[in-house]
Amino acid sequence: MGKSVARAASGRDRLRLGPARRYAVSMAETIFTKIIAGEIPCHKIYEDDQVLAFLDIGPVSAGHMLVIPKEPAVTLDALSDEASAAIGRVLPRLCRALKMVTGSGAMNVLQNNEALAHQVVEHVHFHIIPKPDGEQGLGVGWPAGELDQEQGTALAQRLRDALTG
Ligand code: 5GP
Repeated sequence: MGKSVARAASGRDRLRLGPARRYAVSMAETIFTKIIAGEIPCHKIYEDDQVLAFLDIGPVSAGHMLVIPKEPAVTLDALSDEASAAIGRVLPRLCRALKMVTGSGAMNVLQNNEALAHQVVEHVHFHIIPKPDGEQGLGVGWPAGELDQEQGTALAQRLRDALTG
């Protein structure tokens, strides 16, 4: 809770907030809802009724941008189909613009959910991070195992059931 509060209300604003207000801010607002509202500035790249894209304030590589729905869902599983579709429509266009400007077709699209999976700002966001060379951009740990066929059959069935259930 403390970490998200710190992100939601930055600088002197944070210091002025009492405990009750800090709780309210962490539940309802984040730094990104403030950016959407124009209360905090950003380097805007794209905006429509449902989506905003802007440069990340802590870029992993030059051109690192964030793409967010205006709908204030915390994690991707909570996002509406409509907002998801709006994001999906614009992601490839943003990738093309990034490729054109940075000259790098190599890039990672990253979307973190929950603190354990490295989500810091509690508002759905997609990172688009150019990977211009082996040194810059995202480094990914990928501890691949091997899919057990029997377990895979059962797991896929459970997931299909979850989709329709
Ligand atoms: P997460 O770890 O939640 O997936 O990523 C959050 C991202 O938001 C980080 O890359 C961080 O640099 C970025 N960020 C946090 N606060 C701000 C801000 O005020 N403005 C901008 N443009 N980016 C921010």
